[in-house]
Amino acid sequence: MADFHDQINQEMAREEIHYRRQLALEKKRREHRRKLFFFSLGVVLFAAVTAGIVALSLSRGEKEPPSSNQDGDDPPTQNEDGPITPAVTVPDWVKQDLLPLNEYSRPGTPLTQVTHVVVHYVGNPGTTAQQNRNYFESLATTHETSASSHFVVGLEGEIIQCVPLDEWAYCTSQANAYSISVEVCHPDEDGKFTDVTVQSLVKLLRWLCDTYGIDREHLIRHYDVTGKICPKWYVDHPEDWEALKDMVLG
Ligand SMILES: [Zn+2]
Repeated sequence: MADFHDQINQEMAREEIHYRRQLALEKKRREHRRKLFFFSLGVVLFAAVTAGIVALSLSRGEKEPPSSNQDGDDPPTQNEDGPITPAVTVPDWVKQDLLPLNEYSRPGTPLTQVTHVVVHYVGNPGTTAQQNRNYFESLATTHETSASSHFVVGLEGEIIQCVPLDEWAYCTSQANAYSISVEVCHPDEDGKFTDVTVQSLVKLLRWLCDTYGIDREHLIRHYDVTGKICPKWYVDHPEDWEALKDMVLG
């Protein structure tokens, strides 16, 4: 009987030990799961914060897309290098016939500021706007000289754009870097523009002055930059030049 009791006691003791071991094991497992949970939470939080920082830095690095509207009257915007040209939509009464990129008439140099609008005469009586535009294009192969302008106003009042407004045209020497240039056709040697040409010129200059915030002082002749007799009629007749500016800005 004593043996039997001893046997029972031993078995109970073994079960007790087994039970305690199970308890200890279960406690360890719980501890492990707790650690795993907090570790996972830490990883998820870290990933979320990192993703947030990356997204923020990416969005800061992005530049605002250039905006434009149909009226083309966006105010100029600023960057670190100073004023930049506004994104401009050219009116539909201007025919766009852009020159191919080439170093003699369309170098592709960015025009980063527009402070002046300069008026010229083509100096080749009776030629059309299209002929003058094509002459600029031909310089790419003839290499005869460097010349171009943003716009040419023709004998019938047609207007052709040759160079984008955010690129240099080769027209006004040192002023190329800060001006939009307008060449104007004329029937005779005296350089007088026809009435219909003047009408189109005034319309174009009005739009340019409005778009770039150009005042009377900054609407100029080629002559005002280099002393060249250009546009001849308006150098010979300064009172007509003042009258033209009145029509544009008055
Ligand atoms: Zn000129």
